[in-house]
Amino acid sequence: MSGSPAVVLRLVASAYTVAEKAGAIVRKVLHSGELGIVEKNGANDVQTLADRLAQQSICASLSRRFPKITIIGEEDLPPEEVPEDLIENGQEDEILKKICPSEYSGVKEEELVVWVDPLDGTKEYTEGLLENVTVLIGIAYAGRAIAGVINQPFYNYQLGPQAKLGRTMWGILGVGAFGFQLREVADNKRVVTTTRSHSNKLVTDCVNAMEPDEVVRVGGAGNKIIQLVEGTASAYVFASPGTKKWDTCAPEVILHCVGGKLTDVHNKAYHYDANVKHMNSAGVLATLRNHDDYVSRVPQSVLRALTSD
Ligand code: AMP
Ligand code: MG
Ligand code: MG
Repeated sequence: MSGSPAVVLRLVASAYTVAEKAGAIVRKVLHSGELGIVEKNGANDVQTLADRLAQQSICASLSRRFPKITIIGEEDLPPEEVPEDLIENGQEDEILKKICPSEYSGVKEEELVVWVDPLDGTKEYTEGLLENVTVLIGIAYAGRAIAGVINQPFYNYQLGPQAKLGRTMWGILGVGAFGFQLREVADNKRVVTTTRSHSNKLVTDCVNAMEPDEVVRVGGAGNKIIQLVEGTASAYVFASPGTKKWDTCAPEVILHCVGGKLTDVHNKAYHYDANVKHMNSAGVLATLRNHDDYVSRVPQSVLRALTSD
């Protein structure tokens, strides 16, 4: 007889503590002062020691406990032995106590795909815009993003050296999203959040077509979804290739758990099977409410320029 919780619950419970450990690594590298910056594709696409160590920690910790799961991380790293002090073995007990939705209760390890962005908002991390930084662990089953964990390593850092830094949000479709207080933008205002470092004409044309009351430009896909669920923005508009599956998988789940929606600019969902193309070629349109209204404002020129997967 099996008394152990469903693998989806066990995976999310592990991903929770693994994301916390990754967040601690991200803080430690910053405090060391040695960021070890490497350009991947020019100055706006960089990797630091924190990206590398956090990914090693996340992937090695999860694959040790769940050896049959496919794990896809953002960073291209040489295969090497991961030091034992990067391994996290804990699990969040509160998650293990939840009831697994029936559609996921029989899911097997080998049917799950984990999308890892060890540090989302690296550009901002190197510039000291620390609240933009998140660690993203998204979980997909049958091509759909079904569970996710977001750690925000520098949450509360504006409060000064005494503050306890960091928080973790998590969600499973059919269970709910936890670790934050859901808020909506006041007075039905259209507050559009978009990139600060990867803009182009398509992005600005699409943002302007939303006729926003306000535009906010911040780094990170995880960070922008946090803005949507905490009432600082009502739509995340990014009409360009640029984000990848590891940027959207976990954030999409948190948003969907509270009734929001993330699609490409054509209102088409992204798929997260192990063999999909990594690039989200047709952009990101994410909203907490009124998705169709935002979709209807996307200009024809943008729709023509960006093709769905
Ligand atoms: P941003 O909103 O610019 O912070 O982008 C959100 C996520 O997508 C980050 O992980 C970025 O690194 C990634 N991203 C967006 N646009 C690009 C791009 N043009 N090149 C590389 N990465 C991008
Ligand atoms: Mg990212
Ligand atoms: Mg990253």
